[in-house]
Amino acid sequence: MKVLVVNSGSSSIKYQLFRSQDWVALASGSVARIGEAEGEIRGEWLDWKGERQTSRAPAPIPTHQEGIDHIIAVLRESGVLGDVSELTAIGHRVVHGGEHFKRPTLVDDAVAKAIEEVIPLAPLHNPANLAGIEVTRRLFPRVPSVAVFDTAFHQTMPRTAYRYAIPEFLYTEHRIRRYGFHGTSHHYVAKRAAVLLGKPLAACNLVTLHLGNGASATAIREGRSVDTSMGLTPLEGLVMGTRCGDIDPAIHFYLSKNLGLDTAALEDLLNRQSGLLGICGVNDMREIDRLAEAGDDRAELAIGISAHRIKKYIGAYCAELGRVDAIVFTGGIGENAAEIRCRACEGLENLGIRMDDSANFAIEERGERCISTPESAVRVLVIPTNEELEIAQQALAAASEAAGESH
Ligand code: ADP
Repeated sequence: MKVLVVNSGSSSIKYQLFRSQDWVALASGSVARIGEAEGEIRGEWLDWKGERQTSRAPAPIPTHQEGIDHIIAVLRESGVLGDVSELTAIGHRVVHGGEHFKRPTLVDDAVAKAIEEVIPLAPLHNPANLAGIEVTRRLFPRVPSVAVFDTAFHQTMPRTAYRYAIPEFLYTEHRIRRYGFHGTSHHYVAKRAAVLLGKPLAACNLVTLHLGNGASATAIREGRSVDTSMGLTPLEGLVMGTRCGDIDPAIHFYLSKNLGLDTAALEDLLNRQSGLLGICGVNDMREIDRLAEAGDDRAELAIGISAHRIKKYIGAYCAELGRVDAIVFTGGIGENAAEIRCRACEGLENLGIRMDDSANFAIEERGERCISTPESAVRVLVIPTNEELEIAQQALAAASEAAGESH
């Protein structure tokens, strides 16, 4: 049987099809520029000989419904999906589940309504996620559509970690609290770390660092998230590609009073013009690495500020957890940028963290690996994330559980 994973954004839909017996990814791709005059359909799949094939074609894609139609057509024409009845579940990435959703959930009318109620907390993401869900529910009513939330893994945080020190009514009446994001990725790498450590996840204390264009750190005690760096929105915490992460909130008042910036301008400045881009003019870490090596001082500063912030969170989360089994790096930067990993972990010997520089800088190394020395009390691991696989597995588990309950 097969599980389709759908990541439906406002102007694009990404997908991946898994075979559930062995979790091989049979196909992946995207439809892009939905609603524009000319869209694009991309697909990649394994043919009957197990060889990878690709296709790319322009086509107008007026709505999400047509987008999903194209995806199903590519899957059927390429032969990886004989019929929609082969699908056991469709897993949808949903960015925000508020406090209501603590686990992957089979979508019915009431669940769709509850996801809609969270839209004010994620106005850019949840409507597009919901659009994808509504299409698959309408087109394939017999296939369970399961919502897998970026926030769900963090719903185990204690209130001392998720409440802000602002008046209580802002939480009780306006739902303002820390939610955290990237939960699917933090959960996936935590499970893989437990396997590498040879312990059950419920016995593992971890600091997981998802460092991509968006970046977040999570403190995991006995397999459960107890703190995370992103907050009400994905703007808080680490330095990101174009987002500032932690700053003094008074900077907002200062900018509005002295530079006359309104809310929209502030949002744009802090979400899209800050972070690595704001510091050095470039948001791609590969390019920043190249510039820094060539002596560019602003690129060097961008790496320095990012690593400094990551180190602060490692220290804070080690203090929160008391005992730590491993620090885990993942995401495009976490998996590949050895310099950032090195600087974030250097000088932490008193916390039991001893990096093995030759393992860390071994450029030919890919995949899951340990980059700390054998003496290091805290292991430092690099674990490539696989959010799509995690969504597929969680969707299948939720669909099977729901089927079991209805029998
Ligand atoms: P997203 O959050 O969009 O999924 P990714 O997890 O793909 O992002 O991470 C993107 C970031 O990873 C970019 O800053 C990119 O430059 C960086 N990155 C990817 N490969 C490398 C590499 N080999 N060395 C350094 N940085 C890298």
